[in-house]
Amino acid sequence: MRPRTFEGGIYLLGRKEATQNKPIEDIPLPPEVVIPLHQHVGPPCDPLVQKGDRVLAGQKIGDTDTFISAPIHASFSGEVKAIEPHPYFTGTEVLSVVVVPDGVQEEVRLEVPDQDKLTPDRVRSIVREAGIVGLSGTVFPTHVKLSPPKERPIDSVIINGCECEPYLTGDYRSMLESTESLIVGLKIILMTVGAKKGYFGIGVDKAEAIKRIEDLTAREQNIEVVPLDTKYPQGSERHLIKAILGREVPRDGVPMDIGVLVQNVATTIAITQAVREGKPLMERVLTVTGPGIKNPKNLKVKIGTLVKYLIERCGGFEGEPGKIIFGGVMRGEAQFSLDVPVVKGSQGIVVLPKEMAEISSPRPCVRCGRCVKVCPMSLIPTFIVTYVMEDKIDEANAAGVLECIECGACGLICPTEIPFIQYIRFAKNILLKERKT
Ligand code: SF4
Ligand code: SF4
Repeated sequence: MRPRTFEGGIYLLGRKEATQNKPIEDIPLPPEVVIPLHQHVGPPCDPLVQKGDRVLAGQKIGDTDTFISAPIHASFSGEVKAIEPHPYFTGTEVLSVVVVPDGVQEEVRLEVPDQDKLTPDRVRSIVREAGIVGLSGTVFPTHVKLSPPKERPIDSVIINGCECEPYLTGDYRSMLESTESLIVGLKIILMTVGAKKGYFGIGVDKAEAIKRIEDLTAREQNIEVVPLDTKYPQGSERHLIKAILGREVPRDGVPMDIGVLVQNVATTIAITQAVREGKPLMERVLTVTGPGIKNPKNLKVKIGTLVKYLIERCGGFEGEPGKIIFGGVMRGEAQFSLDVPVVKGSQGIVVLPKEMAEISSPRPCVRCGRCVKVCPMSLIPTFIVTYVMEDKIDEANAAGVLECIECGACGLICPTEIPFIQYIRFAKNILLKERKT
């Protein structure tokens, strides 16, 4: 039987061989960390410390009163060297706390109750205090996601184990190395939102993870492991839900509208660590990889560690780097500085050598229809991009540009190398700004 999947999409080479069998490594103390005060959807945090203060690992150093936000914690014990704007992976600057680690790594933890006294509200409050956000890159505050309104009850929780971006293997290694924490995390989420059934949706290319989780959940009546096709973008929330439950998220809606909550692997493990051990979110697993890196690795990295330090820890560049990407090659952001810090949403750093990163020269559309065939949102990407090129943003809107999930499949398949995502993001920015005003 073919594994479950969705309509459209594209089969990509996984390119995960360089790191999929390498255990997650800790890295030595960096000389300093730069911790941005805005790492989540919602307004930035205000600093709670001053230059010259000594901070402890896990100490809250930034927060706001806003519900949709998440506090920021120091990732090392040490001295606050500065609070200043610093380059961020999006190309802007963000107010950041610069900490010089003292090497002692004195930690503070959150207070947690006896596990048999846990209540949904207590879980939400711990998750909020721990600063947990969606670690797949969405960075939506997790305590908000765990607070569905009464009129939209959740019946199913899906843990997204697809990791369908080429090169990245951090989730796969975490599924193998932190399996118990992952399963406990799903149970905590089920209890918190009152859902009856939990699913692990995992790509069939991760057979070892499927087997390990199946073995450990064999007696759990309300947990099911669902092997999924390795098609891209299977890890998109709406396509995951369609493949596992056969339900459609409404075009303008969210999974909660159809009784579903999707959480990714790293976030689920972070929930367990916060609720069981009182550990705030101050580190994450990521993959430093690509043919432009000498010794690709899966690393457990403290938030705020600079990219240049991680590249050094992986043996430096292999040849001349052509493109350094934060996230994956399909949806990530190209970087122009190695002085940007790892943040909560950083899943990986992929380096492509110069010969793989040549700038394309787009040519006119030859009407081959391939972009239409692969679009997982059933859009007509060639129409959208033509409208944007002609500055017809309202027409692009009517053609559904805001529904685009920016998966990049159309750009990859197009024989004339049209840079779809650039045009689509341009139009979306204009339309979203108009909506706000
Ligand atoms: S139009 Fe958007 S959703 Fe459709 S293939 Fe292109 S990037 Fe993906
Ligand atoms: S894939 Fe490229 S060339 Fe083919 S229809 Fe789409 S835009 Fe045109």
